[in-house]
Amino acid sequence: MRTAVYPGTFDPVTNGHMDIIERALKLFDRLYVVVGENPQKSATFTAEERMLMLKDALKKHNSRIVVEHFEGLLLNYVKKKKSNVVIRGLRAISDFEFEFSRALLNRELSKDIETIFIMTKDDYAFLSSSIIKEIAMFNGPVKGFVPEIVEKKLKEKFSK
Ligand code: ADP
Repeated sequence: MRTAVYPGTFDPVTNGHMDIIERALKLFDRLYVVVGENPQKSATFTAEERMLMLKDALKKHNSRIVVEHFEGLLLNYVKKKKSNVVIRGLRAISDFEFEFSRALLNRELSKDIETIFIMTKDDYAFLSSSIIKEIAMFNGPVKGFVPEIVEKKLKEKFSK
């Protein structure tokens, strides 16, 4: 069984993330989607809320996807799951520098783990969780950019 780990903040999950997940499922039998914390950003949704949205959006792939929360060194999580692949999405050149140094660092820390980059569908190249939150904050339309459950949760969050 080929397994991979797709880590992210997913605050919240967008159709860009969903596209990467769908593509990864063509390459791997099982995918661990791991919700973590990014020390550079403070999250809008709690880890529980982010996981709930991911689980709902991914329910049709129930048997092949595991959504979990993890804090700590990602490589330890990957090894614990008996995997050796980390999936990351790439949108534009601007993602490259950060992702490149992170992948090299991870390789330095663990020689057996490979990072695989998946290019997003061009329709989603401009999508980010932060841009979605900006639109939602001003009551703009997010339909088509995020799964339905996220649309609902954004409305709840920002109508308060
Ligand atoms: P992180 O804070 O770890 O970057 P994100 O949730 O922002 O977490 O992103 C997780 C991964 O998904 C990253 O590899 C990121 O580049 C990728 N990603 C985010 N948005 C998109 C998108 N629209 N298309 C493709 N990949 C994306």
